[in-house]
Formats: sequence, structure tokens, C-alpha cells
Amino acid sequence: MLKQSPGESRVARLRASLEELGLEALLVSQPANRRYLSGFTGSAGYLLVSHNETRIATDFRYFEQAAKQARDFSLQPVAGTAFETWLPGLLNGLGGGKVGFEASHLPYATFEQMTAVVRALPQGERPHLVPTIDVVETLRAVKEPAEIDAIQAAVDLGDAAFAHLLQRLEPGWTEKQAAWEVERYMRERGGEAVSFETIVAGGPWSAMPHAYPRDEPLREGEPIVIDMGVRLDGYCSDLTRTIVLGKPNGQFQRIYDIVLGAQLTAIELIAAGMTGEQAHLLAERFIAEAGYGESFGHGLGHGVGLEVHEKPRLGRMSEDVLADGMVTSVEPGIYLSGWGGVRIEDLAAMENGRLRVLSRAPKFELQGRD
Ligand code: ZN
Ligand code: ZN
Repeated sequence: MLKQSPGESRVARLRASLEELGLEALLVSQPANRRYLSGFTGSAGYLLVSHNETRIATDFRYFEQAAKQARDFSLQPVAGTAFETWLPGLLNGLGGGKVGFEASHLPYATFEQMTAVVRALPQGERPHLVPTIDVVETLRAVKEPAEIDAIQAAVDLGDAAFAHLLQRLEPGWTEKQAAWEVERYMRERGGEAVSFETIVAGGPWSAMPHAYPRDEPLREGEPIVIDMGVRLDGYCSDLTRTIVLGKPNGQFQRIYDIVLGAQLTAIELIAAGMTGEQAHLLAERFIAEAGYGESFGHGLGHGVGLEVHEKPRLGRMSEDVLADGMVTSVEPGIYLSGWGGVRIEDLAAMENGRLRVLSRAPKFELQGRD
């Protein structure tokens, strides 16, 4: 749990990035980036981080919250929606300098309004707005020890919710009922929200990697994919297990063994210094050699933190380089149209160059295969 404000070290790391990029300042609008740098959890506002100042612009709804949460930031009140009333104040003193904005997160219409206001400034007060991508996201990819503790706490809650469901789940429960059982458990124990919409998918429905839960009953003997996560103190968990009610058949055991083999191989061999693509290929090759290369169509994993999908990305074409402090999911799957799917997902933290698995939810059931 983060007991203190995010503090100066994150801002200091950002300033080092600004230096490298030749920027005077960064205008931060992405919510998780705002929270990461300032502590502010409100849904609207902009940060301005320059080499010697930290400012936050937000509106009346959040004045008090911003003052409490973002203590190291000076408040630039936003009145109404007109950028000319507050943007010049936020950018004050940066005339002639390059100010980055988050190109992936600033809507085009907003960008146009901002540009118009900046153009109307006297020349000496006019900064150059420069698009940037993933500046703060790159910092967020490497977690501090307190962040890994926070993720572990979310993972533990998710694991407990999964155990709770397993104790109760019976044939005849609907997918929605099972999803709600998990969600309610997590919310009643401090979870702020689900970190994404819970997936419970039985039988052929589970052949869709992102199936949504239906009013359909779960049946004995069919694969059931459960993919679930909770947000706790701002940090996310993400867990997938594939289970069977009753006795699994031979087909299920064969597919499950391949997916589990791919996952364990990847967890064992992924190392710091690899790219996200190299990590992904460890699992993809394993599945391809077992004859199911066409049936694993998504990436092996993704970073998890304040958001459930963040850097690094483990997948084809990913040049993200894995490093100590990163937290990633490892989630291979095989999906067979008309039959169903098997996916197994754990979160793991990179430490001393290797992955340490954070989830403890039981996997199916090498024990059930006599
Ligand atoms: Zn998941
Ligand atoms: Zn995931």
C-alpha cells in the first residue's frame, strides 16, 4: 500500500526523461499518469511538470481533493470549459520552450482548442506543443517495491475470490451468477471495482478469448474459462483459470496440458533483457510444436499496475525490453471453435532477472489425472 504521496522521485524520473527528450515540460492528461505523478485520483484535470515546477489544473468539483492528494502541485483553478481562462496560467513561463502533450490520450478536438489558445498568446509567452507517446507509461512499467506490495494485495484478494467461487460453483449456475459471486466477494472485502469486466464462459462460448458472461447455465464436463480482476488501493489484479465441473475428458486434459506447459515454460525462461516479442515466442513455439499454433492468437501478456493493461507488452512485434521491477501477466491460451478454450493466467514480477509468480490460485488439477 502506498502510505505516502507519490513524491519527488517519480517527478525526478520524469524530469530526467524530459531532459533526454529536449522538453521543457510535459502536459499530463491520462488519468493513471496523473495519479502516478501527483497522487490525484479525480477524473478530470491536467498536470504540468516542468524542470522546476509542478502544477495541477482541475475544476471546482476537485479543488479540495486536489489540494489534499496532490500536495506537491500548485493548483490552477479551471472555471468553465474555455481553455483561454486557465491554459495560459498553466503554461505560464514556458514561452519559447517545447511542451510535450500525451498524443495517445488527448482528443483531437481538445488539442485543437488548446492550439488555438496557445496561438493567441503573445509570441514571447507561446510554447511549442509537441506530441509525445508513453513518456510516463515507460516510467510506470518499472514498479517500486510498495507498488508490487499493492499489486500482491490485489492478487491475494482475487485468489481468495476464486477460491470462494470454487467452493460454491455447481452445474446449473449461470455464467452471470458465477461472475457476480466473484465480484461481490471482492467488493465486500475492500475492492474498489473490478479491474475489467469479469469473464465466465462455458463450453464453446469459451473459445472466444474475451467472451462476456451470459444467462446460460454451466454444464458438467465442459471447459469453463474464468478471467477476473480487482482494483484495490488503485492497483489491479488479473487472473485466469480454466476449470471443469465434474470429470474432465481426455480432450480437455490434452489441451490443458499444452497450455500449462507453455505457461510454465515461459515463466521459467523469460528473463530480463528479453524483448516482449522474445518472451511471447517462448510460449507460442511451445504451443505450435504441440500442433496448435493457429489457436493461440493473442499476446502472451501485458504489464499490470494502476491499469490492468499497461507496459510492457508481451506479444509479436513488441520491442519493450523486460527489466527488474516490471509486473506482467503470462497468459497463453488455446481456442477451438465449437469446442471451447483453455487459458491460464498469472501475474509475475521480474526480480533479479527472473519472473516470480504472484498468484497462488490453484491450477487444474494435475492431481485429478490418475
Ligand atoms: Zn485476465
Ligand atoms: Zn490479462
